Amino acid sequence: MSYQATVTKVARGGRVDAAEALDLYLHAPTAVLGRLADEIRALRHPERVVTYIIDRNVNYTNVCVARCNFCAFYRPVGSGEGYVLGFDEIFRKIDETIELGGEQLLLQGGHNPDLPLDWYEDLFRGVKTRFPSFRLHALSPPEILHLSRLSGLSVPQVIERLVNVGLDSVPGGGAEILVDRVRRLLNCYGKASADEWLDVMRHAHRAGLRTTATMMYGTVETPAERIEHMLRLRALQDETGGFTAFITWSYQPEHTELGGGEATGIDYLRTLALARTVLDNFDNLQASWVTQGGKVGQLSLAFGANDMGSVMIEENVVRAAGASYCMDENEIVRNIENAGFTAMRRNMHYEILGEPVFRQRQVPRMLALAAARAEGDTSRPPEIDRYAARSAAEKARRGPPRPA
Ligand code: SF4
Repeated sequence: MSYQATVTKVARGGRVDAAEALDLYLHAPTAVLGRLADEIRALRHPERVVTYIIDRNVNYTNVCVARCNFCAFYRPVGSGEGYVLGFDEIFRKIDETIELGGEQLLLQGGHNPDLPLDWYEDLFRGVKTRFPSFRLHALSPPEILHLSRLSGLSVPQVIERLVNVGLDSVPGGGAEILVDRVRRLLNCYGKASADEWLDVMRHAHRAGLRTTATMMYGTVETPAERIEHMLRLRALQDETGGFTAFITWSYQPEHTELGGGEATGIDYLRTLALARTVLDNFDNLQASWVTQGGKVGQLSLAFGANDMGSVMIEENVVRAAGASYCMDENEIVRNIENAGFTAMRRNMHYEILGEPVFRQRQVPRMLALAAARAEGDTSRPPEIDRYAARSAAEKARRGPPRPA
């Protein structure tokens, strides 16, 4: 069978092309794919260390004009369920994150037309003034593109402005599948085409930022399109070397307009193993236990993953679409060690920070502080009135301008 020739080629250090990758994905038994991915992982990470990061995923607003049909998180402009977090609330979340041993915020949100670039600049400045060494892993490529369109500035100019006020790295969200046929069907072509997503990352890498790359699969794409996505990432990584890690997860269909079902655990493991095989220039692959659960997350470590991602103190987007898994640091470490690896904390650059925090000092259990924003709380931060309203809904809410 032809996949065996590809397995031998990869085991000897060869690079797979699109046809070989498709053949592997469609025909190689799961155990063969897993073993191949595990061998590649062992070559890149022979020390048998599996890393994880303590950070907090804060979704600063759920108001979004993009309206992707696979998204259960967003609310349209003017919705009574829309929210924007206040600066003080974000600072409080950072305080809690530091208390738990975290050193980074993963900050992402909807494309809210009433939050101009200055709002982000004021927020980032505020964070860095209060917490100088705290890291901001913030704003996925479509959010940066949205700010570019809103401000009239080019993408490199927006990145420069954000870096000047403290942006440390860029998360790889919003990639979904980097094939425009798929993006049109998911109603996310308008927020960023495949080329636009890659171009924002290219500019971020040129500006000296490291970023991650993601793939959400299991909607309307074909296996060949999953592979095309990986090959486009591989080509950009060849060009810039700016990606630190690749993270893939399955589409979570609950409460979405697109609906449908969820990909199986075996499909996840096969897709992950294929990614380890195709993305031969990526050092790190994360296990997506948030969408797959702790047990499949643990199995991922035998299918090419060398990182358990984030101890999620808070996550709203996939939770809105039905994913309800949660692990604190103790559980993540237990899963890593039970799989035969050494667990170590890392930062966004995948530099080792040390042993698990809970072994060094007493911390409250993560879950005790894992409360997401209370349902139905649509309180409005007062500072939002400092910024000009852009949407009709926000203008109507404020009423006619008062005389100066
Ligand atoms: S996935 Fe992001 S951009 Fe798309 S609708 Fe949801 S919040 Fe908006």
